[in-house]
Amino acid sequence: MAVVPSREARRLTVTGVVQGVGFRPFVHRLAGRFGLAGWVRNVAGTVEIRLEGATASLDRFEQLLRDEAPPVARIDEVQSVAVDAAGVDGFDIAESEDADTLRPVPPDVATCEQCERELLDRENRRYRHPFITCTDCGPRYTIIDDLPYDRARTSMKAFAPCARCAAEYAASGDRRFHAETLACPDCGPRVWFEGAAGEGRANGEQAILLAATALHMGAVVGVRGLGGFHLAVDATNDAAVRRLRSRKHRDAKPFAVMVRTLDEARALARVSDREAAVLTSRARPILLLRPRADAPLASALAPGLDRVGVMLAYTPLHHLLLKSADRSLVMTSGNLGDEPIAIGLDEARTRLRSLVDAFLLHDRDIVSRCDDSVVRIAGAHDILLRRARGYAPVPVALPVRSPHPLIAVGPHLKNTFTLVRDGQAFVSPHIGDLDGLEAMEHWRQSYDRYRALFRVEPAVAVRDLHPGYLSTRIADELGLARIMTVQHHHAHIAAVAAEHGVTTPVVGLAFDGTGYGDDGNVWGAEVLVCDLSGYRRAAQLRYVALPGGDLAARELWRVAVGYEALAGWQSPAFALAYYGVPLSLRTGVQLQVTQGVNAPRASSMGRLFDAAAAVLGVRRHASFEGQAAMELEALAGDMHAAPLPFPIYEEAGRLQLDPVPLLTALGEGRRHGVDVGLLAARFHESVVETSVDVARLVAASVGLDTVVLAGGSFQNARLLTRITRRLEESHLHVLTAEQLGPNDGAISYGQAAVAAWKLSRGD
Ligand code: ZN
Ligand code: ZN
Ligand code: FE
Repeated sequence: MAVVPSREARRLTVTGVVQGVGFRPFVHRLAGRFGLAGWVRNVAGTVEIRLEGATASLDRFEQLLRDEAPPVARIDEVQSVAVDAAGVDGFDIAESEDADTLRPVPPDVATCEQCERELLDRENRRYRHPFITCTDCGPRYTIIDDLPYDRARTSMKAFAPCARCAAEYAASGDRRFHAETLACPDCGPRVWFEGAAGEGRANGEQAILLAATALHMGAVVGVRGLGGFHLAVDATNDAAVRRLRSRKHRDAKPFAVMVRTLDEARALARVSDREAAVLTSRARPILLLRPRADAPLASALAPGLDRVGVMLAYTPLHHLLLKSADRSLVMTSGNLGDEPIAIGLDEARTRLRSLVDAFLLHDRDIVSRCDDSVVRIAGAHDILLRRARGYAPVPVALPVRSPHPLIAVGPHLKNTFTLVRDGQAFVSPHIGDLDGLEAMEHWRQSYDRYRALFRVEPAVAVRDLHPGYLSTRIADELGLARIMTVQHHHAHIAAVAAEHGVTTPVVGLAFDGTGYGDDGNVWGAEVLVCDLSGYRRAAQLRYVALPGGDLAARELWRVAVGYEALAGWQSPAFALAYYGVPLSLRTGVQLQVTQGVNAPRASSMGRLFDAAAAVLGVRRHASFEGQAAMELEALAGDMHAAPLPFPIYEEAGRLQLDPVPLLTALGEGRRHGVDVGLLAARFHESVVETSVDVARLVAASVGLDTVVLAGGSFQNARLLTRITRRLEESHLHVLTAEQLGPNDGAISYGQAAVAAWKLSRGD
């Protein structure tokens, strides 16, 4: 007699990124494979599966649920409980049920290979359909209005699927089985072309051809994309790129370039295996690459820099446009200056009208704004320079659960905010600099969307120490019961420690441009002994006067004046810093320093790079933050170099790093005709060696062996990789930014980590 296999029933609850990633269809297929009965459904942010069948099959199912999950899914946990068998037949995808639990929202996913093939296959019914997607790819976060993730709660709800699409949606063997965004030329969204003033409208294929023709002629075309508008121009046309610069009021900041294939990227720049993997990843960020000398690119793309930002097409519309244009295109944010990027049709027609010659538009609404992400690879590190499309809104875990939901409002520049519920941090995509009403409005809109989407009602606001920041005003105006403050550099270190789950004390090197210190000075090169509960400032860059305050970040020669005061006036080493600066102006600024008028004291690594660039005669005026540091890094290249003197002394109970001898040596070297690239390399090595020395001294004095590197200065690949290497050679454990990047984009998460920790201790 045959043994009847034992039969049982289970209920599985799967948490993680499991909605909008083809998870339910996958479960359906898997259940079919093992002959299991039951159903699967989305319940708020989780997936619930009910199964009946043989015990061995159920066990195999649970195993393969993890091993064969769809590529974009991320399974955090599977809870499995035994339930009573109900003797059901077949397997269904049941209606979604909403519940007030944690709600992960999937990120947008670049067009997959299969869809790309179908897009260019004349035999396929979606041949050249600009909105082709499947279960594995397409827009998600940017079109989701609410959870659970169903077409009815996305901006695709405006497009009722035709009979053929509906049949694919319902067919369990189809690659579009339960694809919420599926569409075809009969039922999907439309594209059209129009002039800057709305004239000369043309639809469909014609629209893409007209856009490509306009680009050939050097026009600026506003392209409605996935998370917002791009401004596109022909990347090989120098005049067109310059025109875009002048219209956008952006004289030097580099523009990113979009190409269609990896081979096309390789024709522009050198691409390592690691870089190829990031370039072709589902997030498709802008990746900073070393351009080839013979690359057909306009010289105005990234003046003075040794990197060019390249991304691959990530929507079907991009593929079609690039194919028709048959050249690489500049694709930069559709905004003026640093305003938020435009997303709406009317908004774009108003705000971008003066910037573009024409528009390439479509009628699928963008619900949430999301910029392109930016990444660079440095040795073993992926440095996330901007975390947005493809990464946000995937939550980042906190090392401790917060007893109260909270909102950390983030910093002044490169703002993001973070909403916390329990142990999950929902970090917003890059918002930008909080200057002006437009930015503040954008902040509020994003905050409202996030609160609704993730169902978090904060009870606590967390903000920076700076009393004057717009973010501080925002936090105060939210009207929450409690407001907590976190010092900027403490937040930097906390962010990196927390993403690694570290809550014990560390030695933190926080190097950046500007942060408000607890003594009221401008901080930016700090060594903190800290954990999530607090910090002690163990070392700092020696204070220098910044005549003109914030103005010194743009007029770099002013920083040099501050340092020259420390060196004793009339040092010939500083002469090059003032080349072209009128003597009367320079004298006035010297007076500002000696009399201490509008000359705040600063210990900023960013300003030290600025001073070095001025003293070397590389740059005296900057048009964007970090410009001088990027140029010095480019000049230094991979050149080996010995450090120059950068001594450490003790004063006021802490170690002081004194860069005056270093700056003097740089100026002297330049005066004696030493190669500027070599001096830039020696400058980098000096910062590396002194940083390593001070970290070792502090670590030894307090008996710690973990060093955290954080702050925008660690976007500099040479600093990051060299300091990491040298610290590891000293047997110190080094933690660097991975999930959120080193710059101020991570501040809100760091603020959240500190607040969650304090609240969990009952502070
Ligand atoms: Zn696809
Ligand atoms: Zn259809
Ligand atoms: Fe910072």
